[in-house]
Amino acid sequence: MRWLLFEGFPGEESPTILGSGEQTASTSDPDKLHEECGVVAIHNHPDAARQAYLALYALQHRGQESAGIATADGTHLSNIKGMGLVSEIFTDEVIARLKGDMAIGHTRYSTTGDSALLNAQPIRVESTKGLIAIAHNGNLVNLGNLRVHLERQGAFFQTTSDSEIIVQLIAHSQATTLVDAIADSLRQVEGAFSIVMMTRDRIFAARDPHGFRPLSMGRIKNPDGPDTVVFASETCAFDLLRAKYERDVLPGELVMVTGDGVTSRQYAPPNQTSCIFEHVYFARPDSMIFGRWVQESREQMGRQLARESHVDADLVVPVPDSGVTAAIGYAAESEIPFRFGLIRNHYVGRTFIEPEQRVRDFGVKLKLNPVRNLLEGRRIILIDDSIIRGTTSRKIVRMVRQAGATEVHLRISCPPTISPCYYGVDTPRKSELIAANNTIEEIRQYIEADSLAYLSLDGLRNACDGGEGNKFCVACYTGDYPTQWVDVEDILPAVAAVV
Ligand code: AMP
Repeated sequence: MRWLLFEGFPGEESPTILGSGEQTASTSDPDKLHEECGVVAIHNHPDAARQAYLALYALQHRGQESAGIATADGTHLSNIKGMGLVSEIFTDEVIARLKGDMAIGHTRYSTTGDSALLNAQPIRVESTKGLIAIAHNGNLVNLGNLRVHLERQGAFFQTTSDSEIIVQLIAHSQATTLVDAIADSLRQVEGAFSIVMMTRDRIFAARDPHGFRPLSMGRIKNPDGPDTVVFASETCAFDLLRAKYERDVLPGELVMVTGDGVTSRQYAPPNQTSCIFEHVYFARPDSMIFGRWVQESREQMGRQLARESHVDADLVVPVPDSGVTAAIGYAAESEIPFRFGLIRNHYVGRTFIEPEQRVRDFGVKLKLNPVRNLLEGRRIILIDDSIIRGTTSRKIVRMVRQAGATEVHLRISCPPTISPCYYGVDTPRKSELIAANNTIEEIRQYIEADSLAYLSLDGLRNACDGGEGNKFCVACYTGDYPTQWVDVEDILPAVAAVV
């Protein structure tokens, strides 16, 4: 049995932990980076837990380490969370325990706080303002100061997760109403947060003033009563629920849903710098984020990449799945045929036991296999979304060449990644980012490609904006961060070098 944590069930005063084995999840591929988190909320649905489950299922790509669902029925606020995939944790039996017509849910890969069960979300906290459950996507950057300050005021933290800071700030706020206390607390935290919160009888949804992470609102029309209101990190989650997308929660907006309907306030002035990497890599192509379909952005990235860095070749081949949509755009623009020259095995899970661990490139070979008859004797343009450490690209270029390709040209649908992200994307430190420490020619030599080109920053911005007038955070490509606070550990060596 997996580890599960049960909280707030009638007749059970303290949380129960059931399960066996390690309480942390391990990932099968240490080379691979990980995604961040997905959040959902459901208001006014007779089977809210199951709706949250379906929505989380659609957001599984945003985090595979742990998942949780909290429900409320006006009296109780119960929470179940566990380590693993959504479908592994939430069996029929587990979902049946979660009663109520409101739910919030979370799927996680940790970027702050370790990965233990206690840090899984939603986090449920009994506070002076009543019971609150919170689910958070993003990363706060002024953590240290706030935590020390709160602890001096007597706050007792249950987790090491940054998300609990928000709840503790609410609990310690001098504001008299809950909604004022939430607004108060959100004004004090800096960084990225798309959050959903639930009390016994209300749901809240909010985005940080920069709108780093996406968060959308939708509705299910009920013929005999008030609508079901839903929130999700990405609109692909609405499709499974048959909910209709209504709008994005705006940067700096706090939305409250009660039995009386939806109300909203701008708790802080917006200053949009949405994460452009959501369009490059994270979000699903069937989602609309920041008012633009991800599929459209990626196809435009591919088209622009073809315009900027044409090369004569026989086939355009995507690195699946992350390079597929950009490769379609590249092939259309360059009029070079598109083929699936690499096939991905979708069943490589975290539990796979590698029989020949020491075999070189085994991890990549397990996941990707070349289609030899397509590649042999051909000049190949390989398209991927990004190079971070360079390890994946090097292995894939070698694989394509070994399958008989005469030339391998790598094209990347974003600019070189030169700076870490502090807003919820799990990137390594600057010293590990290959483009932070090498020229493009040096990277080309390392990955052994015949040519290498990246999409320009302007090209990427135009592809992702699509005339919407969106402003983006591009700090991973420029090193210019839109907030004051960033991780000092990464900055100190640079400062020391300058001094
Ligand atoms: P690397 O081998 O470190 O250069 O990683 C590059 C590969 O990781 C590319 O194939 C990307 O699709 C993928 N990737 C980039 N960013 C992330 C991320 N934050 N989470 C998971 N995978 C990523």
